[in-house]
Amino acid sequence: MKKNYLLSPGPTPVPERVAAILGQPIPHHRTPEFEKIFAEVRENLRWIFQTKQEVIMLTATGTGAMDAAVANLFRRGDKIITINGGKFGERWTKIGQAFELGVLEIKLPPGEALDPAVLRALCAEHPDAKAIHFQASETSTGCQMPVKAIVDIAKHFNMLSVCDAITALGVFNLPMDEWGIDVLITGSQKAMMIPPGLAFIALSDRAWAATKSANLPKFYFDLPKELAAHKTNQTAWTPAISLIMGLNESLRMMKEEGIDALFARHALLAEATRNAVKALGLEILSKKSPSNAVTAVLVPPSLKDGKKIPKLMRDTYGVTIAGGQDELEGKIFRLSHFGYCGHFDITTGISCLELVLAELGHPVTFGTGVGAALKTFAHAGKKP
Ligand SMILES: *Cc1c(COP(=O)(O)O)cnc(C)c1O
Repeated sequence: MKKNYLLSPGPTPVPERVAAILGQPIPHHRTPEFEKIFAEVRENLRWIFQTKQEVIMLTATGTGAMDAAVANLFRRGDKIITINGGKFGERWTKIGQAFELGVLEIKLPPGEALDPAVLRALCAEHPDAKAIHFQASETSTGCQMPVKAIVDIAKHFNMLSVCDAITALGVFNLPMDEWGIDVLITGSQKAMMIPPGLAFIALSDRAWAATKSANLPKFYFDLPKELAAHKTNQTAWTPAISLIMGLNESLRMMKEEGIDALFARHALLAEATRNAVKALGLEILSKKSPSNAVTAVLVPPSLKDGKKIPKLMRDTYGVTIAGGQDELEGKIFRLSHFGYCGHFDITTGISCLELVLAELGHPVTFGTGVGAALKTFAHAGKKP
């Protein structure tokens, strides 16, 4: 028998409490029964987004909310700035181009965080740009971006800050209202701990104002229409009823844990993972600004075919991690440590990695990585 472990940066494992609810018979969505659940979810989404704004739920994956942000904020021919630190930053560029906007892209070397001075200079050169699109955590490289600095620059130049926080929200602190983030986005199959199919987007007053004059083509992702519907505990179209019921439970779990404890847990799991791979003599791709959601590790030069690491871990041992994408394919592998994840997901992932590295001929003293993770936990003293 092969037991499966899901340690990927999306989809992430679904807690048992949530899975039990996903299997329940579904109520009709135009009923007081569902509206009660919807109202609780709305309230708790505001809590996790740290905003007084409405958090709009769209039936789509995270990319749907990115698409919705662009479709609802701009006018034909507008100019936007995108920060491309990897596959997901590149997605902002592609969406902007699909809507035929003028896209000014800052392309970063893989794993490198944005230098705010570079952004400031580009904004000064193009003060007519309407918005800055970026990732809080670039999942493809495991890099955390300087969110607060980007938001401050956007404010200074009177541009909107549009933040893809799909592997950041619920992982580390992103106080939307306090920092003045204009658009904050996440998806269901990441730190929200439910299956794929829901996307979330919250807009500041400034961003809602921009939707009034926007004139790009849209139909399904109509945010002002959704806002009006949400206020009556409804959605413009049929909602993903089961997912919203599951979300109600996962948000309750997050509230029970508490927002500070939630962020502290992710910081500890990330630290343990980084210490483990370093103890194994491996190098982290994003050395200066690693993400607390996912750790991207360079394949050691001694191993010719880096794709074999995630493949063997999954096929032989049932441990699903992520490989590299596009130019990073075969060059990195990514260990995820967010969502429904605890101490022993980390040690499981690292122990499997040790076995597979050894099988592939990389010298490993068994227990070195696991030991470093355990030491990190013991030292922190924080019990789950
Ligand atoms: C997962 C992810 C997305 C969205 O991908 P979907 O497949 O549409 O859910 C976007 N941005 C980041 C940073 C992600 O990690």
